[in-house]
Amino acid sequence: MSIFSPMNILLATSNDHKRKEFARILKDHAIFLPTELGLAFDFEESGETFTENALGKALSLLGRVPKGYAILADDSGLCVEALGGNPGVRTARYGMEEFGRELEAAERNAYLLKNLEHCTKKEERKATFVSALALVVDRYRIYTISESVEGSITKEPDGHAGFGYDPVFFVDEAASTMAALDEGGKDLYSHRGRAARLLNTLLGEI
Ligand code: IMP
Repeated sequence: MSIFSPMNILLATSNDHKRKEFARILKDHAIFLPTELGLAFDFEESGETFTENALGKALSLLGRVPKGYAILADDSGLCVEALGGNPGVRTARYGMEEFGRELEAAERNAYLLKNLEHCTKKEERKATFVSALALVVDRYRIYTISESVEGSITKEPDGHAGFGYDPVFFVDEAASTMAALDEGGKDLYSHRGRAARLLNTLLGEI
């Protein structure tokens, strides 16, 4: 059994929504974004799996992180059954090829709804949201966790909380879109909430 000690964690992202979600669950630890430590972070997601991308993000900061900081990365994505599991690892870049630029979240959601117009029944709109985490404590101590939440894509956006695809992702277990849940609700059901709770347990052991 280890003696609990709070950790300094550098979160390999520029997404402040992710930071807030992790901070709520990993509440005994201090979480920093790269910019707050004067570090540049720009990772090109080229992996074929979420875990590969999460590891790539975290390892891209190894060697630049101040002593005593662990690095945490999250790679998430939406896998829609009717789209053959897409956008998957390309979730952040969804619609980019078609529009020739990166889309805003609301535009991406509208594009997703359009691509699913032919799926009129809820059972045809099944989707899974995945969160893969990579924790790099040092070069030789690396941990990965992958979790997910089952649901479906709504026919129109609902709710204003959260970010990204939250207004169009309906969580079966919660009978609500992620954007219509309050923070505690999203943490309880979401892909990231589930993964972060496992991480919290791990952090208590290392
Ligand atoms: P990445 O993990 O930063 O590559 O994010 C993949 C894409 O999924 C981005 O477009 C995010 O906005 C979106 N995304 C990631 N996590 C969530 C979430 O918890 N809710 C809704 N959208 C998310």
